[in-house]
Amino acid sequence: MIKQRTIQKSVQTSGVGLHNGEKVTMTLKPAEVDQGIVFRRVDQKKNHEVKISPDAVKDTKMCSAIGEDTSRVATVEHLMSALSATGIDNIIIELNGSEVPIMDGSSIPFIYLIQTAQIKEQDAPKKFVLINDVIEVKDKDKWARFEPYEGFKVDFTIDFPHPVFDESTNKVVLDFYDESYITEISRARTFGFMQEVEYLRANGLARGGSLDNAIVLDEYKIINTDGLRYNDEFVRHKILDAVGDLYMLGYSIIGNFKAYKSGHELNNKLLLALLSNKQSWSLTTLDSKDPKTSNLATRYINSKSGILNQSMAGVYQ
Ligand SMILES: [Zn+2]
Repeated sequence: MIKQRTIQKSVQTSGVGLHNGEKVTMTLKPAEVDQGIVFRRVDQKKNHEVKISPDAVKDTKMCSAIGEDTSRVATVEHLMSALSATGIDNIIIELNGSEVPIMDGSSIPFIYLIQTAQIKEQDAPKKFVLINDVIEVKDKDKWARFEPYEGFKVDFTIDFPHPVFDESTNKVVLDFYDESYITEISRARTFGFMQEVEYLRANGLARGGSLDNAIVLDEYKIINTDGLRYNDEFVRHKILDAVGDLYMLGYSIIGNFKAYKSGHELNNKLLLALLSNKQSWSLTTLDSKDPKTSNLATRYINSKSGILNQSMAGVYQ
């Protein structure tokens, strides 16, 4: 039986918010079985907690933000991505501000943090969302779709009218039961365009953005002097974001996520469409002794992404 997971002990880190530019301290704490992923604002007295769910997402402009007013937390997607990759079901995330720190713009600092806290298996079956039918959402030429699949696969394509992007680096397909999230995705950083920075800052966004936490592009090229971490880092970061956005379900997905130019807004719309089509999915558990789910359970146990203890081995060498 695949079990639910939390962390063994509390861990803390601090940094600045990408958008509000403010310093914030974040503490990850263990949580009970079935408690889920809970964000808690410790700088507020009232209405300061939000449990993640697709409905908890209130803003998708340049990041995924949950809650409102005193419970609002922005830029949750990179931390959510790390929680998805490490299979954490139950955790409390305390913040003394309204935004998760951006760290280096990727999810690897959060993977390290979770590894420091150590993963703890809990005495209850882990629940998965099994995709039974195709669900699709569209916005002009952009689209995002779930299809049934025996595993967790992501197939993502981007297209930006900019000389740095070309067809050879615009698409990545990964089956996370066969390939490692940590080596393939976790180091991909967020990116932005110089031309948009002034507009974003005038609107209270990107105030903490710098070359230390983002890839920045001018009209023709990448400004960061140390270049890219992957030659297709942009699409890999969009996958990092999508893995985090999809984990707003609170459950790992068994299915194939396909997307063309999708972002936080469309990723969230896909989850809402899924939840409102009750015949298109079901909750399941995985047990290697149950003939119906034994294949998937074995693949999950052996996967490089699903089990942190195994997948971390390659990172620290
Ligand atoms: Zn991102």
